[in-house]
Amino acid sequence: MIEPLSRSYVDARAAFLEAAAAVGARLTAHPHPLRGVQGEELFVDVAEVGPADADDVIVVVSGTHGVEGYLGSALQRHHLATLDPDRTTGPTLVFVHALNPYGMSWVRRVNEDNVDLNRNFVDWSQPVPANTEYAQLADLLVPSSWTAQDQERTLLALMGAVQEFGMDRMQQIIQGGQFDHPTGVFYGGTGPTWSHRWLRDFASRRLAGVRRAAIIDLHTGLGPWGHGSLLSSNRPGEAAHDRQVAWWHDVTSLDDGESVSAIVTGDWLAAAEGFAPGTEITGICIEYGTVDAITVLQSLRADAVLHAHGDPTAPEAVAVRDQVRAAFVDDDPAWLEACWPRYQFVATAALERLGP
Ligand SMILES: [Zn+2]
Repeated sequence: MIEPLSRSYVDARAAFLEAAAAVGARLTAHPHPLRGVQGEELFVDVAEVGPADADDVIVVVSGTHGVEGYLGSALQRHHLATLDPDRTTGPTLVFVHALNPYGMSWVRRVNEDNVDLNRNFVDWSQPVPANTEYAQLADLLVPSSWTAQDQERTLLALMGAVQEFGMDRMQQIIQGGQFDHPTGVFYGGTGPTWSHRWLRDFASRRLAGVRRAAIIDLHTGLGPWGHGSLLSSNRPGEAAHDRQVAWWHDVTSLDDGESVSAIVTGDWLAAAEGFAPGTEITGICIEYGTVDAITVLQSLRADAVLHAHGDPTAPEAVAVRDQVRAAFVDDDPAWLEACWPRYQFVATAALERLGP
């Protein structure tokens, strides 16, 4: 039996720290500058288990997309509860809890800047990628008010745009990432965000001298209910992609348009090799399905309107947070039970490949 999903960031963090302490994990807390929805302090927490001086590490990250961290946190916790704490050989396990703690607490996919972290790891020394067609949809996606009539009107107009662009192109325009509409959806920001800077700094220090690193980044909101799609940030033919397929088999590339996701620019796994040039990195995103894509998008639109034009601290904001939570996690215990085996397979295969 897996412990159910936590109801709040505060509860998730407490449960994670408890599970980590129970196996004698080495813990560090990295404070975020802002406060959470309950006024609580926010942290990225790191728990390490296994040999302290191992050549190889397995890094498991939750909460890149805030709200998606409620599943990631539960999977990390169950992993901690079921691992062998006395293992003295093989890789060190490094659990990074709530990479985007602000988004997790406020039940948002984005961070404190309305930025999608997985669109923020572009090369900021270059012009940002263009997504000119997004401008045609910007006011429809995030209108200035969200009455029932607004929702009906804009949804009809968006359905019309699907007729014009086709479904695949529409997904690409909306989800591929955009840098011109700061209150819009899938916004990449204007420079490296707090979590971006923290991760780059942490990873470059932690991975210095590490020979091989497996990275597992946990996501929700795309694909069939309870199914974990394995998404690669590398292209077929690259050595990292070959390793991902050898270790985990059923891998699709974010770059070839065949995956459950749009082709994405600026996801952090694609940038991870740059954090630690001397480390051989084999990364994978597990993307767990929840509800249908329209329901997910509607929740993101409601959230974006609330934060652009409403009051996230008002009582009526609770309904929007509930809507977002329901789109990105399923509190039915059967969903969590369905999600666990894929995680276990991925983590076990990494442990075997990096074994002594
Ligand atoms: Zn995600």
